Amino acid sequence: AATIRLLSSSQVITSVVSLVKELVENSLDARASSIDVKLESYGFDKIEVRDNGDGIKAADVPVMAVKHYTSKISSHEDLQSLQTYGFRGEALGSICSIAEVSVTTKTSADDFSTQYVLDSCGHITSQKPSHLGQGTTVTVHKLFKNLPVRKQFYSATKKCKEEIKRVQDLLMAYGIIKPDLRIIFTHNKAVIWQKTRVSDHKMALLSVLGTAVMSSMVPFQHQCEDSEVLLNGFLPKPNSNYTLTSLSSPDRSFIFINRRLVYQKDILKLVRLYYNLMCSKDSIHSYPIFFINIIIPASAIDVNVTPDKTQVMMQNKESVLLAVENVL
Ligand code: ADP
Ligand code: MG
Repeated sequence: AATIRLLSSSQVITSVVSLVKELVENSLDARASSIDVKLESYGFDKIEVRDNGDGIKAADVPVMAVKHYTSKISSHEDLQSLQTYGFRGEALGSICSIAEVSVTTKTSADDFSTQYVLDSCGHITSQKPSHLGQGTTVTVHKLFKNLPVRKQFYSATKKCKEEIKRVQDLLMAYGIIKPDLRIIFTHNKAVIWQKTRVSDHKMALLSVLGTAVMSSMVPFQHQCEDSEVLLNGFLPKPNSNYTLTSLSSPDRSFIFINRRLVYQKDILKLVRLYYNLMCSKDSIHSYPIFFINIIIPASAIDVNVTPDKTQVMMQNKESVLLAVENVL
């Protein structure tokens, strides 16, 4: 059983960045307005995500890290109208089987917070009162302690640095899609990136991309005629240099479907094609900076395609692609 746990866990949590993603999404599902992400030694000594969200209800605490337990959906119909990032009940349990985990939490009904230490099966082995305010803090030590090859793979200095950048990119993406979210990201106690609460996507983009880049972006909004699909966001002005230099990379191409950061090759391709056609030859290999926010009825998408939920299937993908073309 331990081997089976390890096998499936290592598919959910493939890297430091995927672990941070799961924890941050849990914080967002708990309606946090402030998230602190702390890494030590590139995440191998410590990964900690602290939020000021709802906290974990006493009834959920004993089962929170039990594999496949989720407080977010209770029937398969719920999957059709999914409003939360999480729904598979796999993250906490998976993290427990590849690292050492403790969770400190307090709801508005609790008088004080409690720290729970979990074992590799996600069961609570000890608990003690703690001094933290409302919300949840998940602390992870010894990541990949039982996956030496993966640990070694990510421990290479170059990989480590890349992972820090990827965590930053990920947090930037959530910062854009959640303008009113405050984020602080530290590595070895040094602030790598932070964002304050702002009023809208434009201000959020500004804080992520900077004034120079933002001045070459134009907002758009588009409602599909034949479907309930709504698109909005920011695209680079044609021929603007900033958005098409090597400064940009695929990580500055933000595509969201129902606030979920997704990897949509077709859309990425369309946008690139459009800008590369319009620009000089030497920008062929460059990536435009853009932000596309697709709002689609929850029943028309399937996010349960891969364990890490970055792939999304759309019922009316053709009309979404057509809409993107129209906007371009
Ligand atoms: P899922 O997000 O798919 O429900 P997880 O394994 O990520 O599964 O989390 C299991 C459960 O633990 C959640 O359903 C939720 O009840 C609780 N939980 C985890 N993290 C938090 C958090 N930061 N704030 C509040 N509840 C949390
Ligand atoms: Mg989750």
